[in-house]
Amino acid sequence: MQNRIYLDHNATTPHAPTLRARWAELIDISGNPSSVHFEGRIPKTILREARKKISDFLGCSPLEVIFNSGASEGNSSILHAVFSAATQPRNELLISQVEHPSLTKAALSLQARGIKVHWIPVNRDGQLDLDFVRTHLSERTALVTVMFANNETGSVFPIRELAAMAHAKGALMHSDCVQLMGKYDFNFSELGLDYASFSAHKFYALKGTGFCYIKNTAPWIPMIFGNQERSRRGGTENVIGIAALNIVLDEFSNSSAHIARMKDLRDKMEDLILAEIPEVKVTARNSDRVSNTSSLVINKVDGDTLLMSLDLKGFSVSTGAACSSGSPEPSSVLLAMGLSREEAQSSLRVSLGWESTEEETKLFVSCLKEVVSKLRDINSEEMKKQYGTK
Ligand code: PLP
Repeated sequence: MQNRIYLDHNATTPHAPTLRARWAELIDISGNPSSVHFEGRIPKTILREARKKISDFLGCSPLEVIFNSGASEGNSSILHAVFSAATQPRNELLISQVEHPSLTKAALSLQARGIKVHWIPVNRDGQLDLDFVRTHLSERTALVTVMFANNETGSVFPIRELAAMAHAKGALMHSDCVQLMGKYDFNFSELGLDYASFSAHKFYALKGTGFCYIKNTAPWIPMIFGNQERSRRGGTENVIGIAALNIVLDEFSNSSAHIARMKDLRDKMEDLILAEIPEVKVTARNSDRVSNTSSLVINKVDGDTLLMSLDLKGFSVSTGAACSSGSPEPSSVLLAMGLSREEAQSSLRVSLGWESTEEETKLFVSCLKEVVSKLRDINSEEMKKQYGTK
């Protein structure tokens, strides 16, 4: 993996250096946190410490945090909880058109069960249609769910305003906060959320670990039954994953400095791309975005071919969400924003991390310039072959 330049931090992040340094001690944590005897005490303490750190960071009570396997579980179980608890006439859902599949697919399954789902549109600049929300929110709405930041474009949505609108109608508010941690400065307690989901592997800890915020007044019906997590999420907790989270969370007192540095690096990289490579657009550039994400439309180039060519040269980027990579369909997020199929098929997502450097982004832009130029030449040669030259 040496000599590679990793620019796909929205898919997953490398493990934090502090975590790598303490790797060996994790393997010795083998007890069950629910055990009363000696072996259970260390994992129990780890869970307590991590829960406290998360609640201090979010400004909530430790009782409002439950551990789970990640944000797909968090998102699915929140929709499950709200609509299992919802009673007539509150059986409608408002959800943005650009959510992660763990929410869109959960919403489609609710729709198949007769729940009315309103899909909130998003414009080309990545902004949510608040008039649509105003028109469709009613005393029948059980839940509004809108992600804090989009994983493909980095656009940030007005969660505080949406939560106030939802609450004015007596509805609950959830936000998928996965792409937020370490990328955007926020004051969680001011957002007014009833539910939020987080995933540890998006901020330098381990895969298969996550947590949900559930406000103490919000209804909850578990999706996995058992005694753990105060009976709100059954199953022995992923202690090693949570111990890793506990280590990584110590780095977050300094996250604002990382965020400012990444934003500067990302903006410089975009300026360089726009100056060096013709016919490139940055999607949602003029809207509020998380600090690390750049979604590019590179005309006359197929995104997948570009991605593979860059991969061969040692650069890891993506054409959209990691979970939809490999699909021949262009990004549903970009299509929902009103980009044409051709534009969506020519898209590339570059997402920086805390350890990304200016040297890396410069090398990336110079390689991108070379590869794009080659692919465009090949395309025009193909066109000449097919249609002949004058
Ligand atoms: N929500 C968003 C916005 C994501 O980007 C992702 C992962 O790509 C998820 C949810 C799913 O997270 P996890 O991998 O923890 O299930």
